[in-house]
Amino acid sequence: MSQEHTARTLAPTGLLPQEIAEALALRPAFRGKQVFKWICSGALSFEEMTDLPAADRARLSGRPLFSSAVSETLESDDGSVKLKIRLSDGAAVEAVLLTDADGRMTACLSTQVGCPMGCAFCKTGTLGFLRNLGTDEIVEQYLHLAAIRGRPSNIVYMGMGEPLLNIDAVRASIAILSHPDGFCVSKRKITISTCGIVPGIYDLADNGPHVRLAISLTAATDELRNSLMPVNRTWNLAALKEALLYYQSKSGDRITLEAAIMGGENSDIASANAMADWISPISAQVNVIPWNPVEGLPYREPSRDAVRAFEEVLEKRGINTVRRARRGRGVSGACGQLGDTLGAACDYTDED
Ligand code: SF4
Repeated sequence: MSQEHTARTLAPTGLLPQEIAEALALRPAFRGKQVFKWICSGALSFEEMTDLPAADRARLSGRPLFSSAVSETLESDDGSVKLKIRLSDGAAVEAVLLTDADGRMTACLSTQVGCPMGCAFCKTGTLGFLRNLGTDEIVEQYLHLAAIRGRPSNIVYMGMGEPLLNIDAVRASIAILSHPDGFCVSKRKITISTCGIVPGIYDLADNGPHVRLAISLTAATDELRNSLMPVNRTWNLAALKEALLYYQSKSGDRITLEAAIMGGENSDIASANAMADWISPISAQVNVIPWNPVEGLPYREPSRDAVRAFEEVLEKRGINTVRRARRGRGVSGACGQLGDTLGAACDYTDED
């Protein structure tokens, strides 16, 4: 497992069973699996791991299992929870727990402190980039959320940061969170959301893991997308489409396209038709997201009528369209709202 993303030593939460055994000098190697299972069961210290030999427990006593701690918990009326999490160097990230009408829980995880991508409609985009998160810091977000209401069945890499710019740590965290001896989250229930890092999409297509892919599309003309999402000036819509078709040829999966709709920006019928035109060769579901107000950003929430008209255009053009429920707003955990500490975007619906 690559540790290039961080110079510090990973906490045990960021390691697979074999790696735990090696890092903690545990013999025989199956002791690593015991520690791994304890971590996934919610243990907070080695002292709790009663099936470890007393000598190992004594040797490891006092050694931290975690590299982060929850500094604040915010709960919304709709059941959403946002955690502010303090990292060992004093930086902070946010993680969100979303619960849908069926009780299905989704953990929205951050991958970077801040974000370098600068999307104009995103709170994180205004705050700059500090650093990538380590594998342990990503996995611990899930652990902290699981401690509140049990294990979320779904995971979206859609919080602070651009996951494909921290792909080693994201891959390693998926290996841990989907491990059969631990949380065993199905890769079919894990989504990586990117703003359109084209080389990362090819990398994911060729090298896995085979998870769901979501793209923050938002606009389907280069002129408008250039103004809203600087990534488009490096990899334009033609390059993005080619990469998505390649990904789809390898995975066979439908791709989720996120469309944050802002009043007066991209909420008009022409924008909807441009989006339908652009999507046509791709098998996709569009999540239409009425933009959530963020203080200091010059956009406005779209009217209900505008959103409905936008959706109708897509639907009439035969595109599977989902209006995302507005969850998390009470804790500023909805799409584009993360970042009171320094952070990003969450609110996800997968209809599968
Ligand atoms: S939308 Fe995502 S990629 Fe864009 S600035 Fe926000 S966190 Fe970064």
